[in-house]
Amino acid sequence: MTAELTEARLLDIWETGNGRKPPARVLLLAAAGAGLPETGPDGTGQPDPRSDLQTVADRTLAALNGLLLDLRERCFGTALPCAADCPHCAEQLDVSLTTAELRPPGDRVAPPGGAPATGRVHVDGHEVTYRALTGGDLLAVDPDAPGARRTLLGRCVLGAVPPAPDGPSDAVLEAVAERLGALDPGADTAVALTCPYCRHSWTAALDLGGYLWAEVEAYARRLLHEVHVLARAYGWTEADVLGASPVRRQYYLEAATA
Ligand SMILES: [Zn+2]
Repeated sequence: MTAELTEARLLDIWETGNGRKPPARVLLLAAAGAGLPETGPDGTGQPDPRSDLQTVADRTLAALNGLLLDLRERCFGTALPCAADCPHCAEQLDVSLTTAELRPPGDRVAPPGGAPATGRVHVDGHEVTYRALTGGDLLAVDPDAPGARRTLLGRCVLGAVPPAPDGPSDAVLEAVAERLGALDPGADTAVALTCPYCRHSWTAALDLGGYLWAEVEAYARRLLHEVHVLARAYGWTEADVLGASPVRRQYYLEAATA
């Protein structure tokens, strides 16, 4: 755990994201990965979660994934143990990924601040201009709303020549969907796997945001349990417990539960 990302900050992230939908959690984690100042805009020292989210809203999905990987490396290291079921022989596999494997080759992610990359595709007599998905798109669309995927893809369509008065057709949206990965390398965190039992090869998608959130949640719950045990044993406050170094805390935990 590095100094700029304290245990208290991780607890704040978990508390803020608790009960929120996955896209908001992704942006919370990405904002933390960007190393944003811990002091809120009003100088109270309380980070403003809303402004944190807006700060990374203009980043593309690949850039957000890059920030999630930065956060993962700083907090929990580079190795990501995963489990996967072989779709051919149904054997359960233990897979060990690294954060480097999930980054696009050659670090081709666009720097922050610029407009997302755009592309053109010809569909049904229209030349359609589209752009990469951003964090703002994720925040704007409720993932559980009917037609959420269509709404999300529709936000990527910038225009068509000649114009389509009824908006983008399903064929246009699917053509755009197929091209978003190439437009924003690193947007899809997919990994190539080969089953050691039957040699079947396939590509598995990893929900990086969900993976990291589960780790932050487990970490926060473990930390809060330590606070609970030490507060009860010694009458310490939460700040007292978090103020003790992990090594000292471990000693006191062992003494209190001996
Ligand atoms: Zn297999």
